[in-house]
Amino acid sequence: MNTRDLSANAPYVPGRGVEEVARDLGLDPDELVKLSSNENPFGPSPKAVAAAKAAAEDAHVYPKAAHADLTEKLAARWGLAPDQVWVSPGADGALDYLARATLDPGDTVLVPEPGFAYYPMSARYHHGEVATYPVEKADGFEQTADRVLDAYDGERVVYVTSPHNPAGTELPREELVALLEGVDRDTLVVADEAYGEYTDTPSAAGLLGEYGNLAVTRTFSKAYGLAGLRIGYALVPEQWADAYARVNTPFAANAVALDAAIAALDDDDHVEKSVETARWAREYIREHLDAPTFDSAGNFVLAEVGDGSAVAERAQERGVIVRDTGSFGLPDCVRVSCGTEAATREAVATLNDVLAELDRGAEA
Ligand SMILES: *Cc1c(COP(=O)(O)O)cnc(C)c1O
Repeated sequence: MNTRDLSANAPYVPGRGVEEVARDLGLDPDELVKLSSNENPFGPSPKAVAAAKAAAEDAHVYPKAAHADLTEKLAARWGLAPDQVWVSPGADGALDYLARATLDPGDTVLVPEPGFAYYPMSARYHHGEVATYPVEKADGFEQTADRVLDAYDGERVVYVTSPHNPAGTELPREELVALLEGVDRDTLVVADEAYGEYTDTPSAAGLLGEYGNLAVTRTFSKAYGLAGLRIGYALVPEQWADAYARVNTPFAANAVALDAAIAALDDDDHVEKSVETARWAREYIREHLDAPTFDSAGNFVLAEVGDGSAVAERAQERGVIVRDTGSFGLPDCVRVSCGTEAATREAVATLNDVLAELDRGAEA
């Protein structure tokens, strides 16, 4: 037998892993600088690691109490009711839960282009159709309500990413409000704040009391350094009280991840250090990289380098892994994640060498 027709379901293309690249180059993974997946260069909080180790001892038990504990902790943090917090396996899992809660077969969603690949994937998994709105490089990837609304045609779900991946630009608060006002009442606006910790712009979560058609997604994968544990959540409208129980995969997140996330929320110093270093690094990259860059509010910088895949490939040969953004439809760019100070300096120096070398090659 065959699967259903999956031809529209493009596979997710992740940044390359350190082990994989190290093996190819015959290097020790520790010698590589990996700045391709917007991970936290400091790793998880030591408190989260300790909690994860302790939780592993009880891994034979289904996670129930920890799920309730994390949900309540997040609800208190955001000033929401616990049933407005949908804990999930990564924010990607939350995107799935939102799609399950909203899409009937054939419903259409509106996604940014370029943008995060999982929005259209998740919609298609849930039998949805996909339309796009442009986030234009020619306009510095500026995000406004009008740009979205110009493309909007009554879609069931509209995704916005602030800070945007891979551009780093934000949708200002007043623009989000204009978007919420501009769409139909039964269009859900999903504000993806995977990089929300890295900006001073207040979270869209503050608008949940006012707007019944808003959901916010957040993750422990970036500023909290727990990408490997797959834990995130959505904040949803008050009226959705009983929907989570009807759409989530039972025991939505694993016990180790839940306890690690609870501990991570108590380590403000770790998040602060991570955020401050990312802010330093994105300024450093913007100032010192010999290529035009875009203003970023996230823990990464998009740079216009000419031939993105050539630059990424040559940098990788020298032990620096950055993200070739060809899969985002930006073949002339690379995205450089913010590393530690040392790694960021090394990455910029290597990229500048590569850019100079490619320049000489072009002149020769
Ligand atoms: C990283 C990321 C996510 C979520 O990642 P998870 O690891 O699934 O939590 C969501 N949206 C964007 C734009 C991202 O870059």
